[in-house]
Amino acid sequence: MSRLHVTEPSAPAAAENPGQTSTLAGLRVLRRGPGDVALVEGPSGRMVLLADADDAAARQWAALFARTLGPPRLCDATALRLLAGPAATERQEAPEQSADGPAVRLLDSLLDHALHEGASDLHLEATPEGLLARCRLDGVMLELGRYPGREAAEQLISRLKVLAELDIAERRVPQDGRLQHVNARGRTDLRVSIMPSLHGEDAVLRVLEQGRAAAPELGSLGFAPAVCTRLRQAAERPHGLLLVTGPTGSGKTSTLYAVIRSVLSGLDKIISIEDPVEYQLPGVLQIPVNEKKGLTFARGLRSILRHDPDKIFVGEIRDAETAGIAVQSALTGHLVFSSLHANDAFEVMGRLRHLGIDAHGLASALHAVLAQRLLRRVCLHCTAAHRPEPALLQRLGLPSADWAGTVLRMGRGCAHCRGTGYLGRQAVGELVLMDERLRELLLAGAAAAQLRAQAQRAGTQPLREAALDLVRTGVTTLEEVLRVTVD
Ligand SMILES: [Zn+2]
Repeated sequence: MSRLHVTEPSAPAAAENPGQTSTLAGLRVLRRGPGDVALVEGPSGRMVLLADADDAAARQWAALFARTLGPPRLCDATALRLLAGPAATERQEAPEQSADGPAVRLLDSLLDHALHEGASDLHLEATPEGLLARCRLDGVMLELGRYPGREAAEQLISRLKVLAELDIAERRVPQDGRLQHVNARGRTDLRVSIMPSLHGEDAVLRVLEQGRAAAPELGSLGFAPAVCTRLRQAAERPHGLLLVTGPTGSGKTSTLYAVIRSVLSGLDKIISIEDPVEYQLPGVLQIPVNEKKGLTFARGLRSILRHDPDKIFVGEIRDAETAGIAVQSALTGHLVFSSLHANDAFEVMGRLRHLGIDAHGLASALHAVLAQRLLRRVCLHCTAAHRPEPALLQRLGLPSADWAGTVLRMGRGCAHCRGTGYLGRQAVGELVLMDERLRELLLAGAAAAQLRAQAQRAGTQPLREAALDLVRTGVTTLEEVLRVTVD
C-alpha cells in the first residue's frame, strides 16, 4: 500500500484530520496523470496534490507543487486513495475504510433503502436546492429524500464516479459504468449512468439482478392462458423471428427468458447474447455483451452463427446491423428470439423497416410479436370495492353504460403497500401471430391500422382489452390501464 502526500498552502482541513474522508469528500479531482498523481480542488478552492509517494513521476510532481504551495504533508492514504481512484484490487475494501464520510454514508443508505424496497432503479437528481433521491418501484417513482445544498449532490456524484471507475473531472458528457454494492443482504451489481443536467449532474443506478437462480415460468408472469399457449407454440417452431416489444421496464426480458425456458429440451443448441445476463439458463450458452471490448450484439451474433445454433436469443435489436443479421438468421433456418423497443406490435414492423429490413424479408422472417406492459396489482391487504369514476371511463373512451354497474377493486393504502394501494406487478400482452393475410398486407405496404384490424379479425386481443379484463377481475385498476396503455 502506497503513501500519499498532500500539499496545501495553509492549514488544510485534510491535514488537520488525516484520514477523515468527511473533510475530503468535497475535493474534486482536476487532473490525473501517470503514477496516480491527482491535482484536486479543496473545499475552500485551494489546490491540493495527491500523489503516490513510491512513484518517481509522482515525487517530481510533489516537489513541483511543494515549491509552489508549500511543503507537502503526509496524510493517511486510505481516505485519499478513494478520491484519487482506487486500484481495482482495493475497490472491495473501500466502503468499510471510509465508512465515516457523509457522501459515502448517504449513498450507502440510499442504496440500502432502494434495494430493501425492491426498487429497480435509484435516481439521484440535482435540483436548484440540492439533491433529490428517488427510486423506481413497481414501475412508479417513489421519493426517498431531499438533501439541501449543491455540495451534497456533488459529493455524492463524485463518490459514485470513484466507485464506478469514471472520470471525476468530466462533468460535461454522459458517463456509464458499473459498481457493486455490498450490504448485509449480500452483493448487488448496479449499472451507473451519469448525465450532465441544468443544475449539476444526475445519476441513475439500475439494479442488475445478475445470476438469479432460475428464469421465471411463462405461466407465472400474468399473461392470459391463451397468450401463454400460443406463445409457447410460436417458440417451438423450427425457424423465424419471435419478438417481444414494449417500453423500457415493461418486462420484455423476463418474458423472453420464460419463453426460452419453456422450450428447453436439451435437443437443440441454444446460444444467447445478452446485456447483461440476467438469469442463468441451464443448457444455453450465454454470452454477455461487452461494448468496451467491442463485443456488441451484432458482432456477438455473427460469431454465434458460426457455432451452429438452432435457436438464438439476442437481448435487444437496437441497430440496423443487428436487425439485418437477426432477420437473415431467421430466414436461414434459425429460431431467433429478441426484443425491440416500440409501443406496439405494429410499430415493431415499422421500426424494422426503418432499420433497413425490406418488406419481403420481414414478411418471411417475422412470425410472432408480443407487445407487453407491466400493470401494478391491487394490494390484497387493503383491497376494497368501488364503482368506476365516470371521468376515468371517459378518458379511457369506455362507454359508462357498460361499466357503471360494475364493481371494481382498489387498494385503500396500508403498511404493506406503503400507502400506494398496489403491491407487485404482472404482465399483460397482445400477441400477434403472422398469418398469410398479414404477410400479404405487410408486403403490400399496408398501414399499421390495417394490419391491426386484420390481426384483431384473426383473434388477437388488443393490449388495452387484455388490461381491462384484469380490471374487471379486480387484479388492477382503470388508473393503471390509463397509465400504461395508449390507444
Ligand atoms: Zn395495501
